[in-house]
Amino acid sequence: MHYDYLVVGAGLYGAVFAERAKAAGKKVLVIEKRNHIAGNVFTDCIEGIHVHRYGAHIFHTNSDAAWEYINRFAKFNDYINSPIANYKGEMYNLPFNMNTFHQMWGVTTPEEAKAKIEEDRQKSIEEFGGDDFVPQNLEQQAVSLVGREIYEKLIKGYTEKQWGRPCNELPSFIIKRLPVRFEYDNNYFNAKYQGIPIGGYTALVERMLEGVEVRLGVDYLANKLTYDELADTIVYTGPIDAYFGYKLGALQYRSVRFEEELLDVADYQHNAVINYTDSETPYTRIIEHKWFEFGKDENGRDIPKTVISKEYSSEWKVGDEPYYPVNDERNQKLYLEYQKLAAEENGVIFGGRLGEYKYYDMDQVILAALEKSPE
Ligand code: UDP
Repeated sequence: MHYDYLVVGAGLYGAVFAERAKAAGKKVLVIEKRNHIAGNVFTDCIEGIHVHRYGAHIFHTNSDAAWEYINRFAKFNDYINSPIANYKGEMYNLPFNMNTFHQMWGVTTPEEAKAKIEEDRQKSIEEFGGDDFVPQNLEQQAVSLVGREIYEKLIKGYTEKQWGRPCNELPSFIIKRLPVRFEYDNNYFNAKYQGIPIGGYTALVERMLEGVEVRLGVDYLANKLTYDELADTIVYTGPIDAYFGYKLGALQYRSVRFEEELLDVADYQHNAVINYTDSETPYTRIIEHKWFEFGKDENGRDIPKTVISKEYSSEWKVGDEPYYPVNDERNQKLYLEYQKLAAEENGVIFGGRLGEYKYYDMDQVILAALEKSPE
């Protein structure tokens, strides 16, 4: 059997591409190294709770196209992400908004909050290089946006645990993912659409892959030549440096380890996400999965137990699961070198968080895959 496309990896990018290729009448084979589909959006059902096995995924987008597309495969609930930060027992609302500013400083108006931030910014201006400085790194960006105290209590510890690097060596765009609002609004994402697929992400990806041949537990790179012969075009969604045998050196990734516990209580923290923003607590956050679905099972009944996951961030090494690309200067430069090699690989499309070494959100992955898919 010869295929038009061999899709390597059954994560979101691969699934979207395969679905589109199938719809366009192409012959597609999907191979996947793990023994399940859905990549890192995979959810497992435990005691009626959809557990996000590779980290919490909250779908959010401003794109009509991405929203319309994903809704073909699942109904979404109206979950709104409102994480809370726990700094040594002090609780703050996220993202940074009037609730946070009030909790931190007792201010009650936007004007007072802005004045407080400006005061901190002024104090740091000299250290950052004078009056008209443009933030060069995450620390400078954060202090400019929310002031020194919020940076110290809610950003520094969390970010340094998450990335394993000092904030002044990290790119400023990471923190720009978080909105700052002078309104009383705890909605984490500035997004037109948001929600969690009812029934879990695995079921969603299953629906995408309906009618597509999928082989699990298959290591493409271990038998690359054999698999390459199967199709005209390869859609590779694994790590780009692994594809090239790390020949220019390894790109850096952050990995995550989850300590998952099934607890015999109905309510552990009553919020899906609580971030531990101090530097001493070894994990970055605790996810309590049932609250992504309002504590109910699929028949609308309250679930008597709960599953929590403590999230530990670590430096990736060969053999670990890569989660986050580290988009600092050094890695970005190396990635561009790999990208040049990739451009010379005829008949291979590199896609997704690992294939493009990008800190993609799910909607961006979908749009990128749609863009590359056959019509
Ligand atoms: N961040 C932070 N404090 C928090 C939450 C996030 O400083 O309580 C920063 C941190 O640098 C993190 C970035 O914001 O890497 C993006 O966070 P987000 O929750 O969007 O990341 P993800 O869910 O993709 O891990």
